[in-house]
Amino acid sequence: MYDFIVCEMDKSWMHADRRLKAYELGVEGFSNFAVENLGNTTHICCPYVKCGNIRLFGVGIIMDHLYFNGIDQSYKIWS
Ligand SMILES: [Zn+2]
Repeated sequence: MYDFIVCEMDKSWMHADRRLKAYELGVEGFSNFAVENLGNTTHICCPYVKCGNIRLFGVGIIMDHLYFNGIDQSYKIWS
């Protein structure tokens, strides 16, 4: 049931410009929400568009998807 909760949470931030702080905060919020609601579940739906909110991954992998695939590669957020 935790999977369901995470899958159904608000992801409107996903539609924000990926270069905006809103996207970064959305990813962080998703991470925090997921961790707080995981319970005994280790894998949740990945909200990244190419995973279709269907594939199940660990939170760390989903963060990778959202940060490295979701954020414009030309935007040097790490530098
Ligand atoms: Zn994914």
